[in-house]
Amino acid sequence: MPTAPRYCPHCTTELARGVPNGDTHERLHCAGCGYIHYINPKIIAGCIIERDGKYLLCQRAIPPRPGTWTLPAGFMEAGETTEQAALREVWEESGVRADIVSPYSIFSVPQISEVYIIFRAVVTEETGQYGPETLDYRFFEPDQIPWDEIYYPAIRQILERYILERQAGVYGIYMGNDDTGKVHFIR
Ligand SMILES: [Zn+2]
Repeated sequence: MPTAPRYCPHCTTELARGVPNGDTHERLHCAGCGYIHYINPKIIAGCIIERDGKYLLCQRAIPPRPGTWTLPAGFMEAGETTEQAALREVWEESGVRADIVSPYSIFSVPQISEVYIIFRAVVTEETGQYGPETLDYRFFEPDQIPWDEIYYPAIRQILERYILERQAGVYGIYMGNDDTGKVHFIR
């Protein structure tokens, strides 16, 4: 969570906590000029990328849980679409260029105000060059995936589901949240 500001960025009055007129949530707000300090969730966009039955995973170089393997994903920047953010993160973390196929999973983690949006994508180019947030990247056969070293349980669930679906040739769209730890089938 970001640190709460103490003063209004517009008129420097000290901010007060409470429910602003006509609002539904308690927020920091300014009695001087009416400024309201909104805190909204962050969006993390990424991709599940399969090539010839192998799945792209990146090994994290940075906390939390460095050394674990995960789907390439990261925070959206202002001015991006979710698709652009997802493909940029894939590029930065694996050096892989890809094209989006469809949305695949939306997963909310309300305790830390984050939303994960994962797309299906296909590889267009593999450069072998990647940024400092990644120790290594690999396309894994399903039985070679380091299942006990996956970054987050929901990532493991998404991968397991995807592998089954690829065998069946039919793909769903999923949503879930961290309260249950489960990805739910909504098709
Ligand atoms: Zn103000």
